[in-house]
Amino acid sequence: MKNQILIDGRWQDSQSQETYTRVNPANPSEVLGDFQKGNSRDMKLAIDAAEDAFQAWSDTPASERARYLLRAGEILEQQKQELSLMITKEMGKILRDSAGEVQHTVDLAYYVAAEGRRLLGQTSTSEQRGVFNFTVKLPIGVVGLITPWNFPIFIAARKIFYSLVCGNTVVLKPSSEAPQCATKLIEILQKTGIPNGVVNLVTGSGELIGNTLITDDRVRMISFCGHKDTGAKIMRDAGPKRVSLELGGKNPLIIMDDADLDLAVAALVWGGYSTTGQRCTASSRVIVHEKIKEKVERLAIKEIRKLKIGDGLDPKTDVGPLVNQKTLNKTKEYCEIGKAEGAKLLTGGQVPKQLSGWYFEPTLFTDCKASMRICREEIFGPVVSMISAKNLEEAIEIANSVDYGLSSAIYTASIGSALVAIKKLQAGLTYINHPTIGSQVHMPFGGVKFSGNNREGGAEGTNEFTELKTVCIDYQNFQKSAKSKDLNDYGDFFHGKP
Ligand code: NAD
Repeated sequence: MKNQILIDGRWQDSQSQETYTRVNPANPSEVLGDFQKGNSRDMKLAIDAAEDAFQAWSDTPASERARYLLRAGEILEQQKQELSLMITKEMGKILRDSAGEVQHTVDLAYYVAAEGRRLLGQTSTSEQRGVFNFTVKLPIGVVGLITPWNFPIFIAARKIFYSLVCGNTVVLKPSSEAPQCATKLIEILQKTGIPNGVVNLVTGSGELIGNTLITDDRVRMISFCGHKDTGAKIMRDAGPKRVSLELGGKNPLIIMDDADLDLAVAALVWGGYSTTGQRCTASSRVIVHEKIKEKVERLAIKEIRKLKIGDGLDPKTDVGPLVNQKTLNKTKEYCEIGKAEGAKLLTGGQVPKQLSGWYFEPTLFTDCKASMRICREEIFGPVVSMISAKNLEEAIEIANSVDYGLSSAIYTASIGSALVAIKKLQAGLTYINHPTIGSQVHMPFGGVKFSGNNREGGAEGTNEFTELKTVCIDYQNFQKSAKSKDLNDYGDFFHGKP
């Protein structure tokens, strides 16, 4: 099946006249479809369309814009099964997780639609008599969205829904690893009857066409989600426009000696290996109190070895394939690096035999040092590194010793330890007795340090996709009366301000 790009409400082939194929990571001989290799010309046309559509869309009342999101939520819900299968076949996560992603997107559509009625500003007191101050949230303009493959529906939808409800028009450049899900999402938005040009889609290589989107001055904002190095490059190339970044993680799961160890180990297993470790919020580091280290190792090995590896379409599967050969190679390479650095391999570390897809065993290293590369760099595969700590203070120091700061968790029975962790862990999210994960749709989500500079989700998401204007109304002719006063008074009010 040949898929197309969408520009100004019209599905079309790329000007390049070239396509590429995407295959199923569980079975790479199965071709999923042909996708357009978009080029710079397509991107320019998509930006033209988004720019032309902006005026009318931004003048449409937010509550009316929200109706398209409500309709999109309904269609997503009706097509949940088809979409879940599509996610699993395209990027490999197990069907349960795919269905969860679609449901999360449905919930998001309804939630963000309601935010259309809450684009709130603030009123304030004034330094001047008869002058009224307030702020108002206004659309930004054309927004360029660049998304990864690991949550191929949800992440693109979050950026699109917030952009639209806030009155912006968009050009989406999804990951070339998951073009089918992105195309389907855009088809659903088309079905809502959204005006032409408000949503545009160009598929293809980020390295080839991303730059056209990033450097075009008519694009007022870039909202990016992906690897930190790609984010850093985009930040450099984008110039002074707004750049919002959601990047990677090396998320710590701290297990204290007073924790419920069954729960903590369940969190290690789910947090480390669900979506085959390909989650920005994966618990890729476990920092364990030295008193319980051996017990945690024993329990973890037992649980990890129960995980069934296989095609995500099989309901018995716990761990699906990696997204592509490159990610599989990178995972293998990190295991070698870990061994060479002196970490002890407790379980996993191999490509399972008799499976033809891009599979890798859930892997646990122990006796790791915080300075090892497997403890500092994002692997984005099913590899967890365990480091021991003598107390909470040291555990937090280790947790904070990386460049990343996205999600974090602590398992403890002590409210004091939990509160210290909340205060001291350098992360956008901290979970207490709960695995590292993204946030619920009505809660803000985002990282600190090299994990990003934004907050999407919740009411904060509308801050991300709007410009805040300060308004000042002189309703009692203050300016006239000020002029009639002596120069000092006049100076106080109108001079010396930037
Ligand atoms: P990636 O950085 O390789 O690609 C992300 C997107 O950027 C893709 O659409 C890609 O085509 C595009 N791109 C690549 N090079 C580009 C360039 N030079 N200019 C413009 N665009 C370019 O990341 P990925 O492999 O798709 O995703 C995995 C990464 O995403 C991990 O680091 C993961 O932690 C991160 N991630 C973060 C979050 C979050 O919310 N913080 C969520 C999911 C994934």
